[in-house]
Amino acid sequence: MGDLTTEVLVIGSGAGGAVTAAALAEAGRTVTVVEEGPWVDPDEHEPFSLAEMVAKYRHRGAGAALGNPPIAYAEGRCVGGSTEINSGLYHRLPEHLAQEWRTTYGIDEFTPEVLEAYAERVESQLSVARLPGAPPPSSAVLERGATKLGWRNVEFARVFSYDEAGRGTKQTMSRTMLPRARAAGATIIPDCRVVSLVRQGDRVVAARCRRTHPGGGVERLTIHADHVFVCCGAVHTPALLQRSGIRHNVGNGLKMHPTIKVAARFPHPVDHGDVPMHRVTEFSPFIAIGGSASRRGQVAMALADTGQPIDEAMADWENISTYYAAIRSEGSGRVVALPGLRSPIVTYSLSEADLSRLARGLVHLGELLLAAGAVELHPSVTGGHVVRRLDELGIWWDQVTRARANLMTVHLTSSLRMGEDRRRTGTDSFGRVWGFRNLRVNDASLLPDAPGVNPQAAIMAIATRNCDHFLADA
Ligand SMILES: Cc1cc2nc3c(=O)[nH]c(=O)nc-3n(C[C@H](O)[C@H](O)[C@H](O)COP(=O)(O)OP(=O)(O)OC[C@H]3O[C@@H](n4cnc5c(N)ncnc54)[C@H](O)[C@@H]3O)c2cc1C
Repeated sequence: MGDLTTEVLVIGSGAGGAVTAAALAEAGRTVTVVEEGPWVDPDEHEPFSLAEMVAKYRHRGAGAALGNPPIAYAEGRCVGGSTEINSGLYHRLPEHLAQEWRTTYGIDEFTPEVLEAYAERVESQLSVARLPGAPPPSSAVLERGATKLGWRNVEFARVFSYDEAGRGTKQTMSRTMLPRARAAGATIIPDCRVVSLVRQGDRVVAARCRRTHPGGGVERLTIHADHVFVCCGAVHTPALLQRSGIRHNVGNGLKMHPTIKVAARFPHPVDHGDVPMHRVTEFSPFIAIGGSASRRGQVAMALADTGQPIDEAMADWENISTYYAAIRSEGSGRVVALPGLRSPIVTYSLSEADLSRLARGLVHLGELLLAAGAVELHPSVTGGHVVRRLDELGIWWDQVTRARANLMTVHLTSSLRMGEDRRRTGTDSFGRVWGFRNLRVNDASLLPDAPGVNPQAAIMAIATRNCDHFLADA
């Protein structure tokens, strides 16, 4: 049983937590970061490999939001959080959403100008860049198909830096913000899970933790702090608050980008090392089309989604890559921490409109891939028709049902929400949890809705803004 004392305790070291730790340590605060997952050398594993999933993903990559249909999801669980395993695609929060959220939730100091200034600050601290050369074939497929159909498409910038030979390195939190935090004096404790927060009136005074040592021994640790920032991500932030008896708008309203996939076979090999950086924006903001990680294992899983034999296609797996259509969803979900269970229950309810949006996305994705030269399309639909010609695509409309659609997501948000409208939010405009003077949330949970674009940029800009507000205030 150990005791530690710090001025600021940051719980979780992903996009939100790492930004918080760096901003506060650089402002001269004494910061301790605790992270449930291990420290893993960012160069140790091949990106998107099975070994990486075992080392860095929560539950080795298997998570599911229960519902009809269930939706599989993935999260990081290591120092750097989900930024260590993501694709690094970078997109600022669209202006119209900043406007909409500001008025709907009553968020102070949330104009597009304010957010743009914070995005610029984040971008000056990371390296955000486009590819220095031509895109890989798997990404060029999206550009080619869209151009043929006259659909809008863009190459996304990524949180990558490139050397003179054009080799890219993803600028994860373990390579950027966490070293900055450490250089400014922050302490980072990996393998340390916060079980609950200790409350006294309107303050949180300590966190009760379980720290796992390299030999497997578990130590109970209590960390006393003047200020606590919970940055455990949209699933585990509400779960920790609920375990600590904090419940006002905590864990309801979970949002995500439900995603449906196609494994597309081409008459030639495609690359499998990178995730496509092109995105088809023709149907934005409600449907986005892009590419997914497509190593051998991911190709096998995508093919298996139809429930049909995959041996013949797998023999040709180097010619296959996976693509997706993701939607902005009307539905929402919940995170519920139950006594005695280590992980919370997550649920999500898709609306009928969501389902038809997914069907439409799948059909558009099929059109695009055929236009780009794909010869065989395997949808992530149980018993789904394997399509080879444009005139067969229509059959997918009826096959995307609750019973048959296999959906997934890697973007989870909105399980607290920020703003001055207490009926709809779990925190004030800057992440301070209602009813507490020194307890703040600073991660994906604060976004009032799933943004329709990759969320890391918005999470980091908002987290930086909230740190400035804290520094001016406390
Ligand atoms: C496979 C994948 C691909 C993605 N691709 C992109 C992309 O290309 N672009 C993009 O913008 N976004 C992408 N995302 C999403 C993006 O990475 C997340 O939205 C973002 O990292 C969320 O930040 P966060 O701080 O809320 O949570 P995370 O980054 O998930 O960090 C939360 C951390 O808290 C820790 N934690 C949880 N509970 C506790 C506890 N009780 N005690 C201590 N620590 C705890 C977790 O272990 C984790 O490390 C992707 C995500 C995944 C999984």
